[in-house]
Amino acid sequence: MEENLKEKLFNKKEVGWKDISTREKEAIYSFSKNYIDFLNKSKIEREAVCTAKKLAEENGFKDLSTFETLKEGDKVYFINRDKSMYLAVIGSEKLENGIQIVGSHIDSPRLDLKPNPLYEDSGFAYFKTHYYGGIKKYQWTTIPLSIHGVIVKTSGEKINVNIGEDENDPIFVITDLLPHLAQDQMEKKLKNGIDGEDLNILLGSIPYENEKEADAVKLNILNILNQKYDITEADLLSSELEVVPAFKARSLGFDASMVAGYGQDDKICAYTSLSAILSLEHVKTTAVCILSDKEEIGSMGNTGMESHMFDYFVSELLNKTGENRPNLLDKVFCFSKMLSADVDAGFDPIYASVSDRTNAAFLGRGVGLNKYTGARGKSGASDANAEFVAWVRNVLEKNNIKYQISELGKVDVGGGGTIAYILANKGVDVIDCGVPVLSMHAPYEVTSKYDIYMAYKTYKAFWEA
Ligand code: MN
Ligand code: MN
Repeated sequence: MEENLKEKLFNKKEVGWKDISTREKEAIYSFSKNYIDFLNKSKIEREAVCTAKKLAEENGFKDLSTFETLKEGDKVYFINRDKSMYLAVIGSEKLENGIQIVGSHIDSPRLDLKPNPLYEDSGFAYFKTHYYGGIKKYQWTTIPLSIHGVIVKTSGEKINVNIGEDENDPIFVITDLLPHLAQDQMEKKLKNGIDGEDLNILLGSIPYENEKEADAVKLNILNILNQKYDITEADLLSSELEVVPAFKARSLGFDASMVAGYGQDDKICAYTSLSAILSLEHVKTTAVCILSDKEEIGSMGNTGMESHMFDYFVSELLNKTGENRPNLLDKVFCFSKMLSADVDAGFDPIYASVSDRTNAAFLGRGVGLNKYTGARGKSGASDANAEFVAWVRNVLEKNNIKYQISELGKVDVGGGGTIAYILANKGVDVIDCGVPVLSMHAPYEVTSKYDIYMAYKTYKAFWEA
């Protein structure tokens, strides 16, 4: 009797793997295989845009600029400066009644090269870096690194750089002190163990031909770069070169139940939402997918979510569907719904003390929602309204999707944020909804394949609701 009452009244938090069919398990594994492939091709935002564009076109999406007018069922994309992207499937309802947005980000913590990166010291050539986003600096030494990005010459010619990923490419590394001589370093606080100014990438050690003058190793590197890319040192001034881990994303565990890979924050939500919008056919409410840039450093700049580029995109949809009239954009946002698709901190038993078990997200228990984020008394949080949370719960439960609603860590331990507040400020109903991650922001992050698939199903169900 009492068991039945428990069954009826308790919010069951179950491991997703427990009651899935063989067919669903196969779907989870094959979806994750494609996700791993996406991660390996898309380590930086520009590459993610490139991969996403290719996938979009293969699935019948076309550049918004090629449309004179838009009608129900049209599938469009818009690329902003090669670094962020919006996609839409036009619904049968008017846009003025609201749109349904899933928004993720495709930038990840990394090391950017400084504007004047190249120098030589004691027979070694190095690139200086300035880290991007919240990293634990000690994690970036003594791991294989690759260099990705662009160099733009004054002529406007753009050179794509991707070195360290191919098996035949060299890789790069940041050295660390041997333990034998690290007595002082080991006494330091962890956050001071490696200095930001010491995150220098080792590039080479051969001096140019018979040069005995200073900087012969640097000269040799520049000569190699000149032969390979036809650039001079000054061309590095107008480059965006990003140093990321060179290792590949892989299946993790004897049971292959997890994915280990760089940049899963937030390419995991980017890929799952992208896959979901590509699978849509007819929708009632217009579906919009955002792949944004610069989230890790505050969403500023014209490729970040704070920019008006997204407003411009929605205005263009209004213009091309023939609906537009003065101030209509404000109305669209006030009647819209959004899932802010970003990763959540997964409960890690090794670091259990930072989490409240009752309110933590667990790997393998489905998509993770945060009603609010923020820190120390919800400061800076976008707190989803209970009415909207109930609407989202209904969508999930109707579609048998496992979900968990959690907080990011214990009260007063820390906190975080996503792009949720930016859209909420425009009037959109927003809730954070993504995949729980272990070792977030580390060079190798861990997720559960079960949750990846649930995220995909969630975004699809949201757009079809
Ligand atoms: Mn994120
Ligand atoms: Mn992040």
